[in-house]
Amino acid sequence: MIKPLMSLVIALLVAIMASPSQAQKRGKRMGEMQERVVERKEYDVKATGLAPIFPEKFSCDPIASPYGSPYRFDGSVRRQDRNSGLHGGLDISLNDGSPLLAVAAGKVIAKGEGGNLEGFYLWLLHAPADTGLPFWSFTKYQHLIELPSINVGDQIAVGQLVARSGLTGTVGPAFGPQGYPHLHMSLHVAPGPEFILGGEGKSTVSPKDGKLSDPMLLFMPADSKFDQAAELPDARKRLPVAIVGRDSRIHPAGSKVVWPVFCAEKPG
Ligand SMILES: [Zn+2]
Repeated sequence: MIKPLMSLVIALLVAIMASPSQAQKRGKRMGEMQERVVERKEYDVKATGLAPIFPEKFSCDPIASPYGSPYRFDGSVRRQDRNSGLHGGLDISLNDGSPLLAVAAGKVIAKGEGGNLEGFYLWLLHAPADTGLPFWSFTKYQHLIELPSINVGDQIAVGQLVARSGLTGTVGPAFGPQGYPHLHMSLHVAPGPEFILGGEGKSTVSPKDGKLSDPMLLFMPADSKFDQAAELPDARKRLPVAIVGRDSRIHPAGSKVVWPVFCAEKPG
């Protein structure tokens, strides 16, 4: 009885020792996962309740899941292992290939592909002079249909078409096999323009002293107490938002910050 058992143990040991490729594969997976963890920092996300009011004559694609929401666009509960299950950006449901617009003037600082839950993405940097706001704004557009053709370093104008929406990075456990075509836009506010580039493609942006924030902060008046948005009375949480019409004209004209997708003029 003992002899076959011993030989089984030896056979197992030999099998384990003789398969470093498995261990290497595991190691590679772990390495990738560790890299993902570096890229996907945990953030202290807190809902603000800020919501857009669009110009009356226009119909715009609304927020399907706001910043800080525990729910996805379809009302399902978000996975709990990221940001305590709270949404780190705002989602707008869109048809595949919808034009995405720069929310403000600025500069392209990175573009890349992040894989699952991120997809193709684009990072823009907006100076205080670009937005009229007292901080530097880093905006990120995710799940793009393809790597945007716009180049890193390019200057951009407010409302300029910078990318097209898609569903990259959404096919899988979170949104199912069909994926979910939408824009996930996130915002980091920072005291200055400095940032670090990391990740495999050196395209993951970490703004220096940046704070992940509700992108709706971009639409608050310049003299707002931005870190206290959640405490505002409900009436002041509804923010008039400037938009870009299908004719590429900004309404109201001269606005520095606009909705990131075109709005259609209502008939009549
Ligand atoms: Zn999202």
